[in-house]
Amino acid sequence: MTEPLIYDLSVPGRKGAVLPEPDVPHYDLPAELLRDSLPLPEVSQIDVTRHFTRLSQMNMAIDTNLYPLGSCTMKYNPRINEDVARLAGFANLHPLQDAATVQGAMYLMYQLQSFLAEIAGFAAVSLQPAAGAHGELTGILIMRAYHRDRGDGKRTKMLIPDSAHGTNPASSAMAGLQVVQLPSDARGNVDLAALRAHLDDTVCGLMITNPNTLGMFEEHIEEVAKLVHDAGGLLYGDGANMNALLGIAKPGEIGFDVMHYNLHKTFSTPHGGGGPGSGPVAVAERLKDFLPGPIVRVQPGSELDDGENGLPLYEWFQPAKSIGRMRAFAGNFGMLARAYAYIRIHGEAGLRAVSQNAVLNANYVQARIKHIYPIPQGDRHCMHEFVAQGRFEDAPGVRALDISKRLMDYHFHPPTNYFPLIVPEALMIEPTETESKQTLDQFVDALLAIAAEAKDSPGIVKDAPHTAPLRRLDEVRAARELVLCCTFEPAAPVEG
Ligand SMILES: *Cc1c(COP(=O)(O)O)cnc(C)c1O
Repeated sequence: MTEPLIYDLSVPGRKGAVLPEPDVPHYDLPAELLRDSLPLPEVSQIDVTRHFTRLSQMNMAIDTNLYPLGSCTMKYNPRINEDVARLAGFANLHPLQDAATVQGAMYLMYQLQSFLAEIAGFAAVSLQPAAGAHGELTGILIMRAYHRDRGDGKRTKMLIPDSAHGTNPASSAMAGLQVVQLPSDARGNVDLAALRAHLDDTVCGLMITNPNTLGMFEEHIEEVAKLVHDAGGLLYGDGANMNALLGIAKPGEIGFDVMHYNLHKTFSTPHGGGGPGSGPVAVAERLKDFLPGPIVRVQPGSELDDGENGLPLYEWFQPAKSIGRMRAFAGNFGMLARAYAYIRIHGEAGLRAVSQNAVLNANYVQARIKHIYPIPQGDRHCMHEFVAQGRFEDAPGVRALDISKRLMDYHFHPPTNYFPLIVPEALMIEPTETESKQTLDQFVDALLAIAAEAKDSPGIVKDAPHTAPLRRLDEVRAARELVLCCTFEPAAPVEG
């Protein structure tokens, strides 16, 4: 039975809300601002509630199922963080309020800047960028500004390994740099010979993800850093996936000059459809002056001032050679409040446990499936994720996409498919630290069951999903011809 669409329930004049009598004088809006043509359904509150609840249940979410989407770190976000972000003293602030009236929020930002700098071993942090890719663009603009400031204007190339996240070359190109791709070696590390061959005085830097998107720790990262620095370049770290390293290794101490974090991955802010992101950027001492502002600092002199609360005063400041603003106001503040709460609740030992468990869980799943699913780097321990292949010699017709669709029938969100590009039929699996052994075992059992089905009854796998509200979609057409709203009229069939 198909459920009624909200538009079918529309009755002229039906309302879902009762507005109070206005306590200000009545005023007619200018007629030219009003439209009669908007085909909005007129329905009651319960109709609206059911409509949206139904839509939410048609989706797979971290709150309903394991969501092992590699590289995205879809982990559980403790609800206490939501309470913190909604505290009236934070949520009702106006971004143009005078600094003297928002000292609590500035304290939180100052502390978060310090925590993030400490966690990854850097000198300073800007909380402005609104996402990982935005943090990349920020970091690259900082690198470019640093070279230019030294009168070194011909450094226009960014070296990027072929395992990189797609945002890395995109951000580099957006910053006006020429992207040079480096191959990976058989163990999943960046190919050192290729790196050496490309390093010269036109290189702005190397942009590298560690652990990389194969889930492998770069075994020669210190040598890589030295080579890049000896050539006058800078080392950019894509720190979107810091949940492999918390409390274990500090990129700033390994030799990275600049790095972004994804608060909406590592530090528990919900992401995807769940809200805006946050991609703070951290830098080494020599890049501090180029950070985008405003940054929060202790007002010089006020450290000694034992004020009413025994706290110093905080002020906004713009670093001396700042690349400028990257975002309006103070960034996505709600995300900062969530990350702050997450870090404070865990503390040093707790954050280390986060990474230890993230790595343990990924290795557990890898170890349990690697005799069935080919894993190119399966002889190595992985970090927080690993990349298997969704293909079997004895089931040639079945592909990674089929396996992913079939997983939905077992009530698991599919892993990342066909990325990284260098692994054919890639299934990139990141279980995260928030899953129990029972859940991981159920997930592994499903993967093994699907592998058996692929051989014995491949049709079931190729036709999956069988239980989802929609079956296989034409994903290319869905992306190219987006339909974002329903209309009263049934949509005319699209030609071709
Ligand atoms: C998610 C991710 C990014 C991009 O972050 P967004 O917030 O989606 O822009 C960059 N690099 C890696 C490795 C990632 O996993």
